[in-house]
Amino acid sequence: MPAAVAGPEIERLIQLLARLPGLGPRSARRAALHLIKKREALMTPLSAALQVAIDKIQVCATCGNIDTQNPCTVCTDPRRDGSIIVVVADVADLWALERANATNGRYHVLGATLSPLDGVGPQDLTIDALVKRARDPQVSEIILALNATVDGQTTAHYITDLLQDANVKVTRLAHGVPVGGELEYVDGGTLAHALAGRTTVS
Ligand SMILES: [Zn+2]
Repeated sequence: MPAAVAGPEIERLIQLLARLPGLGPRSARRAALHLIKKREALMTPLSAALQVAIDKIQVCATCGNIDTQNPCTVCTDPRRDGSIIVVVADVADLWALERANATNGRYHVLGATLSPLDGVGPQDLTIDALVKRARDPQVSEIILALNATVDGQTTAHYITDLLQDANVKVTRLAHGVPVGGELEYVDGGTLAHALAGRTTVS
């Protein structure tokens, strides 16, 4: 282990920062130094914001979203279309769809995808709650917005089977050539999916 360059309080700060996704030990040191230099402008408000977040963050009992209110902002927004539930694996996916302004529906956060190899089974996901929500007569469509990975598709199939007798349309995201993508650089699996899912233009 390299010798510490600073007191234990600063070393601890660096160690904690290094646990953030995308930050290795080097960038954690850089971030720590930046915070220390910008004590008033950044470190103090960051510390206060963290404390407020710790005190206020809740998981929405309806959809599994993370917010400072329960039910969450999305679930309580009257302008949202309550007939559509968009199923995502993680809150990060919900945020990505919201950033893209992709849907006006409500969400359901599973918490993960099924992964038999990692020991993640149906009981680890909020699937029971989803099935219950899907039986609400107001709900007419469940959109499975899950990753185009083996685990994501396994999860999609599992949920589709469970919803067979619920009175809802179950749809999934289209798989295909990304917007701005050039065919030459798209991988074979994606190309095959894009061709299989082709749509009529005239
Ligand atoms: Zn919610």
